[in-house]
Amino acid sequence: MPERISRLRQLLEPAGIDAFYVTNPENRYYLSGFTGSAGALLLTREQSYLLTDFRYTAQAAMECPGYRLIEVSGAYAAVLFQILKENGISRLGLEGDHQTCNQYFNLCKVCEGVEIKPLSDQVEQLRILKDGSEIELIEQAVSIADQAFAQILPVINPGVAEQEIALQLEYAMRRMGAGGPAFKIIVASGVRSALPHGVASAKTIAVGDLVTLDFGAVYHGYHSDITRTVVMNSLNMRQKEIYEIVLEAQMNAVATVKAGVRASDVDYAARSIIEKKGYGECFGHSTGHGLGLSIHETPGLAAKNDTILEPGMVVTIEPGIYIRNWGGVRIEDTVLVEDNGCRILTKTPKEKLLVL
Ligand code: ZN
Ligand code: ZN
Repeated sequence: MPERISRLRQLLEPAGIDAFYVTNPENRYYLSGFTGSAGALLLTREQSYLLTDFRYTAQAAMECPGYRLIEVSGAYAAVLFQILKENGISRLGLEGDHQTCNQYFNLCKVCEGVEIKPLSDQVEQLRILKDGSEIELIEQAVSIADQAFAQILPVINPGVAEQEIALQLEYAMRRMGAGGPAFKIIVASGVRSALPHGVASAKTIAVGDLVTLDFGAVYHGYHSDITRTVVMNSLNMRQKEIYEIVLEAQMNAVATVKAGVRASDVDYAARSIIEKKGYGECFGHSTGHGLGLSIHETPGLAAKNDTILEPGMVVTIEPGIYIRNWGGVRIEDTVLVEDNGCRILTKTPKEKLLVL
């Protein structure tokens, strides 16, 4: 934690501020370890303050050594202004992407004489590189999802509702220690598999359906994300063909990932294969995204993202082909960027379209 705080402090001067006010829950947790649902951090050059209310003060004292705890009973803005005055701070940065307009205007009104600068991605830029303890937690989250997938395969049968499969997946993950699913579980079968984000519905599985399952676990705050597409009972030639194209695209993108490569290069590695086979228009989303304390983090593996990959980034690789009124296939792994390649954290097999 002290190292994360000192990295943030190094950003104060270049950003032209004397202190930074952190309200986003994931960023707050990243910098302090505080798990409460209400609170804010104020980081000056020398001091670290945690502002929270009575419900969380005892918990915060345990979770956040090194922070000066301030119990707030009314409005945060007035308490914040008091601390700013005591520290002689005249330039305050805040998280422009996470404050509401009303909060911002209120702070400007209350903090008389303080220049308030909304900034973007200050803590998110630090979070992009995962340290050893974070990678361990992500690996655990990935492993829980892998095991849950293996456990629910026997549940997938003709006549079973997508919602039932999602429920069983969530149950399996929570039994293994997950805090919850990483996002609303996607189970999209038959023509619904053409919906890239087809959240599980009341539709029942039918013979011949492609079934796309996209889900993940949250483990101690860290997310995993996996997609596999399977087919019910029997597969036809077109399903096999589409699966093989997506698999080739996915594996080509995975093979491209290493330190020094641009995010856009990884996207191109997947997209160019799908385009060459004539399905470019059926792949309308980016190839992947970073993940960690949030399910979607920078870097996005998109055609227009020039971020250079570095060791310690964790990203998903998830190309897909979606054909309206027919169905779709997506394959997604979570990988860790390394110097000479990447480590595929997801262990669930993908080499063949699994016929259940
Ligand atoms: Zn996913
Ligand atoms: Zn994803």
